[in-house]
Amino acid sequence: MATEVVSRGLSACPFCASERVVVVPAENLWCACCEGCGAQGPRKPDAGSASEAWGGPASYRKLMREILDSSAAFVAVKDMDGRFLLANEAIARLMGTTPGRMVGACDADFVSDPQLLRFYQASTEGVWEAGGETLREEVSLTMPDGDVRHYMALKKPMLFGPKKIPSVLIIANDVTDLKRANNEIAARERRYLEAMAASGEGIWEMDLRNNLISHNSHLPEIFGFEPEYFEVSDSFILDRIHPEDRERVEQSMGQFIAHGGDYESQHRILREDGKVIWVRSRGSVAEFDEDGVPVRLIGSIRDITQRKRAEASLEEARQKLEQTNNQLENLVEERTSELVQLNLELQSLARRDALTGLANRLAADEQLLQEYARFGRQLQPYTVMLVDVDHFKQVNDTFGHAIGDRALIHIAQLLQSSLRETDVVARYGGEEFLLLVHTGEQEALQLAEGIRRQVEVTPVSANLTITISIGVSQVQEGDSDATDALRRADKLLYQAKEEGRNCVRA
Ligand code: GH3
Ligand code: MG
Ligand code: MG
Repeated sequence: MATEVVSRGLSACPFCASERVVVVPAENLWCACCEGCGAQGPRKPDAGSASEAWGGPASYRKLMREILDSSAAFVAVKDMDGRFLLANEAIARLMGTTPGRMVGACDADFVSDPQLLRFYQASTEGVWEAGGETLREEVSLTMPDGDVRHYMALKKPMLFGPKKIPSVLIIANDVTDLKRANNEIAARERRYLEAMAASGEGIWEMDLRNNLISHNSHLPEIFGFEPEYFEVSDSFILDRIHPEDRERVEQSMGQFIAHGGDYESQHRILREDGKVIWVRSRGSVAEFDEDGVPVRLIGSIRDITQRKRAEASLEEARQKLEQTNNQLENLVEERTSELVQLNLELQSLARRDALTGLANRLAADEQLLQEYARFGRQLQPYTVMLVDVDHFKQVNDTFGHAIGDRALIHIAQLLQSSLRETDVVARYGGEEFLLLVHTGEQEALQLAEGIRRQVEVTPVSANLTITISIGVSQVQEGDSDATDALRRADKLLYQAKEEGRNCVRA
């Protein structure tokens, strides 16, 4: 306020008793101002005292009265006999009366509830005995309607009024709502702490301004400390990181502290008891300063050793399974190729005659079909010859079955050596052979005659010579299938037998 001080050094301010009261002009009025407490009031410019400045003692008392009655606190002054010397609106309302009616009366005139009455009567006791000190006490009262209310009461001994009557000033505030709010906050905090405890997480909070760290009871547990011997310094959490993980964790932690955001890592820590455990560590910035620099961090640490172990054994099991699978696959592959090989061998065995080593009837029939098919496509001629040993039964009968076998092998070798690689020689029945040559009938006839002769002149043993008969037939364009040529050769063989044996018929 731009003030033009008119006069100074008036008597003391009626409110704060300061003597720094000045009179200044303000909008056509003269105004008294206290430089101590800031109180202001209109006055006559020639007023001689501060009381006058504010309109005299009556209006001052009225002001004090207004202050008293508009206060939410219960204010009363009682003499040593318990009679009210002063009461404000709030307490009168509580008693169900008016401040005026209370002066000179006692609590018992307004209150019938014995508990309340005892409490009110006790309110003045002990104040003077306490050596003139101001007493503060908190009391809880059950109201007649059952509601429990809490009061913070201040009691002060005083000498009241011009007669200086020994009395007690009582100022009581209803702190029920405050108390309930406090209780609610405390309950919430307790629940929060319980939740923290139940979570099994070690919680820490670090103030970067003073490097002070606070934590819950799980944190020492995780690091293997008895809570009472746990002292955590600003580098403690970093110091306990396993050397192999430290660089990695420090890097991400450093970034987190510098830039804020959230932080999470999984690493090993060294416990006080020497054990190494896996933890999941998380952090976030709880508070920034006005420049946006993090000043308070909050974080949690959880023991995840069990989980890591489970993961590791799961991984081990998976690897073992993979290994077993691979082994199984290899085994199957091996067995399969063995089987393929065996199958090939079996196929070849199934097509070979055990005694002579020649192709057998099955192989011969397959060859016949193939040649006939090729003939159908390319008209490449071939000739089928059926060879039968003459009077073979007699050979067996005379020389025995073993010699008979040897004779069959002998014939087989002769036949084979007489033909080309690409021709087919097969044992088609007991002492019957099938030849398939890639020539026409004329040429085949000559070949057959040569073979017959060769057999005739090549004895099986000193005293055994055998002969053969042959039927020769070329495949023909009119043939309906592969067996036609075979049937004709068979007929011709029969004819050769009929006509005396040891001969060729075409
Ligand atoms: P033909 O001149 O009319 O052909 O008279 P054959 O005696 O040769 O004909 P037959 O069909 O009467 O007799 C064939 C004989 O061949 C009967 C059988 O004992 C003999 N034989 C068949 N297979 C074998 C064999 O593997 N080993 C031996 N040692 N003899 C066999
Ligand atoms: Mg025969
Ligand atoms: Mg025969």
